[in-house]
Amino acid sequence: MTEKVLAAVRVAPGKMEFQEFPMPELSDDSALLKMDVAGICGTDVKFYMHPPTTKPVIMGHENIGYIARAGREFTRRKGFKEGDLVFLEHYVMCGKCEWCHKGEYRLCEATDWRSNPEGIRYGYTPVDRPPTALWGGFAQYAYLPWNSVLHHVPKGVTPEMAGLVTPMANGVEWSLFDGGVGYNSRVLIQGPGQQGLSQTVICKQAGASLIIVTGTSKDAARLEVAKKLGADYVIDVNKEDPLARIREITGGEGVDVVLDCTAGAGTVPVLLGVEAMKRKGGLMVVQGEMPEFPNYPIGKIAVKYITMKSARGHSFRSCELALQQIASKRFPLELVTTHRFGLKDVDLAIRSVGNLEGGLKGVIHASLIPWE
Ligand SMILES: [Zn+2]
Ligand SMILES: [Zn+2]
Repeated sequence: MTEKVLAAVRVAPGKMEFQEFPMPELSDDSALLKMDVAGICGTDVKFYMHPPTTKPVIMGHENIGYIARAGREFTRRKGFKEGDLVFLEHYVMCGKCEWCHKGEYRLCEATDWRSNPEGIRYGYTPVDRPPTALWGGFAQYAYLPWNSVLHHVPKGVTPEMAGLVTPMANGVEWSLFDGGVGYNSRVLIQGPGQQGLSQTVICKQAGASLIIVTGTSKDAARLEVAKKLGADYVIDVNKEDPLARIREITGGEGVDVVLDCTAGAGTVPVLLGVEAMKRKGGLMVVQGEMPEFPNYPIGKIAVKYITMKSARGHSFRSCELALQQIASKRFPLELVTTHRFGLKDVDLAIRSVGNLEGGLKGVIHASLIPWE
């Protein structure tokens, strides 16, 4: 094993630097993950270009790897041993609070970097946080303390396919658990990126009778993939009036559930969702990216008796269900895992996922392979 660990470190907005860090000393209750695949999503794009901290950070929060070394206590308490292929949640839990006991690590105060400066998440936590710098997946190894949260990757699932577990788990969480999508649901999914496509798969699996996916003209290839994964209709909002089209498709009735999987679209997805919703009692899961919402249509939301919920990551259970969904091989998910990048191409990978200047075209989900 090498003495040093190579990592891509975000040192400034839109700037990566390659640095070496010492291999961490392991206590009896900690372990070391040899990274295999770090998935890249829209959050990486956002935080690469607009970092929430000025400190250097090893990004990478959707991490798959093999346990390279494990202390005896780590294995005894957690049941993971050297050689296991695992998915590492990005939340580093307290393990004591009500949320942690429910498997809702995303809601634990110890993982909430927005309100708690001590909060730890893989891909978000600066390199100066003790006991090691290795708090992100864009590196050869990641450090696993006793309170890291792991899942076994089922047999027959490759690390690259397992890299889809985060968007798929969000699909389970937002559409099924939050949105209540099930048999005969009519669903509008806005945005055909890896997140919207994952929601499409989960809604189809759950028995939705109508799945409409919207995107822009730039998303033409993604909209085609949406159809192959189960969308009944796709709408290019640059070519058609989405509301008129949704009314036509639903015979004027509207949809039951709206899932916002857009990025940087401002108030538009919420406004369209409110209009496209059925007459009474629909449900929306929203991103809420912007700090303010001018002319928020609260009157219309109240009159239509709409429930609004917030898209907030995934629970332990949704990760397990997502892994089982991937293992079932029921859907052609290889249409989503379009690209692989080596560590040295991390900047290109993020720009490609974000459709930014200098990026490759046609990328849906990118796997970063830290050893390539
Ligand atoms: Zn992500
Ligand atoms: Zn907790």
